[in-house]
Amino acid sequence: MELRGKKALVVGLGRTGAPSANRLASLGASVLVTDNNNNPGEAAKKLAPGVAIETGSHDRAMAEKFDLVVVSPGVPWESPLLVAKRNAGSEVISEIELAFRLVERPWLAITGTNGKSTTTALVGAMMAESGVDSVVCGNIGNAAVGEDAIFERPVKVVAEISSFQLEGVTTFKPRVSAILNITPDHLDRHKTMEEYTRLKCRIFELQRGDDVCVLNMDDEGASKLAGRVKCRLFPFSTSEKLREGVFVNDGVILISHASEIWKMGEAKDMRLKGRANLENALAACAIAFSGGADTGAISRALFKFEALEHRVEPVATIAGVRFINDSKGTNVGSTLKALDGLEGRVALILGGRDKDQDFTPLAEMIKRSGVAVVLIGESSEKLGRLFGGYEPVARANGMDDAVAKGAELAGAGGTVLLSPACASFDMFRDYRDRGEKFRESVLKTQKSAMAGKGA
Ligand code: ADP
Repeated sequence: MELRGKKALVVGLGRTGAPSANRLASLGASVLVTDNNNNPGEAAKKLAPGVAIETGSHDRAMAEKFDLVVVSPGVPWESPLLVAKRNAGSEVISEIELAFRLVERPWLAITGTNGKSTTTALVGAMMAESGVDSVVCGNIGNAAVGEDAIFERPVKVVAEISSFQLEGVTTFKPRVSAILNITPDHLDRHKTMEEYTRLKCRIFELQRGDDVCVLNMDDEGASKLAGRVKCRLFPFSTSEKLREGVFVNDGVILISHASEIWKMGEAKDMRLKGRANLENALAACAIAFSGGADTGAISRALFKFEALEHRVEPVATIAGVRFINDSKGTNVGSTLKALDGLEGRVALILGGRDKDQDFTPLAEMIKRSGVAVVLIGESSEKLGRLFGGYEPVARANGMDDAVAKGAELAGAGGTVLLSPACASFDMFRDYRDRGEKFRESVLKTQKSAMAGKGA
């Protein structure tokens, strides 16, 4: 891709904006970054000298003509600026597409509604254990385009890819792709499940021949795509034996390929717990194996790996009540999985900013299994209506109150689970902030329980 003498526009100064602008500039393009936020903060300080910046409006970006437009994942594809640029004949792409075009590397690309970060980090650990030179990047936090190693050495690129990033790809063709699951999310942006699924399919659409596509056979949304795959399929399942793929038999995780079978070990011995994480573990085995990691290393990494923070993460047990932080559970599908398999009485802290979700499947599961609910945040009203007549449902005023009410409802031997099925921005900075506040409230409870004992 020749950039010398070209004019490039970078839209949005989020995590991908500055690395995209700097890479484009280093390759000879003249670059303008535009962000309608007046106060872009730290990201602006990371721009290389020579990169022009416009904040508080898109006036200059609108007025000038650009050869290439690179979009941050947070910017809606149909925003007036992007529509205008496409109409004016500029090519509009995402940062992932840019990185893919700039340097030829084998990509192991992971998407899905839930489990992307956990699976991506685990694949990275398996590749590292196997001694394969690779870089973990993407939606997990660090933009591929900003990773010098990708541009300097023939590394494998292990990337978490979101549906927002897939909106802006046209030639992206990973060596190994994976779709972990497809359940409703981000419908405020993508509008329909058909559109959301169509975008997810872009991860494998250009794969052919020896490329590999990993699909979850337990998930309806992902498994039904198998017929559309035009390369080698290497699926995984927790319930079905597979001739080609990764599955569980008598509690043992197995990789099966070309009439050979490799034993990874017993699922119950993993540090990752829960149904969702078992699926992520199988996915990671399938992806790392297809990406060239050796089976011994895959197994070693699998049994060493610990859950990432805020993802079904045990926080403490106080007076017999377990507290679990799943603040990253931000949609109905993730919360349904987090509830799956929890024993004893469960009090679920639920609610936050709604993303136009249908909460009915979750409400039905809650009623069926007798889970107690503590409602927080903006969506309390909408959720409250769904639970009309169902007991016990409490409303909380802030996190301390939610934790206290949850503990009371769960009781000794029970579990308080924060898995809100909603975004956090109504009450918190982000999901991390929400998870930290939960942890702090739990630790306060612990202190007062101990003070009570001492008295
Ligand atoms: P993502 O990067 O896709 O958001 P994470 O690994 O960060 O995925 O996990 C986000 C949340 O999704 C977790 O807190 C957990 O509640 C849920 N989750 C994780 N893996 C899965 C899975 N395989 N299926 C359903 N839910 C999952």
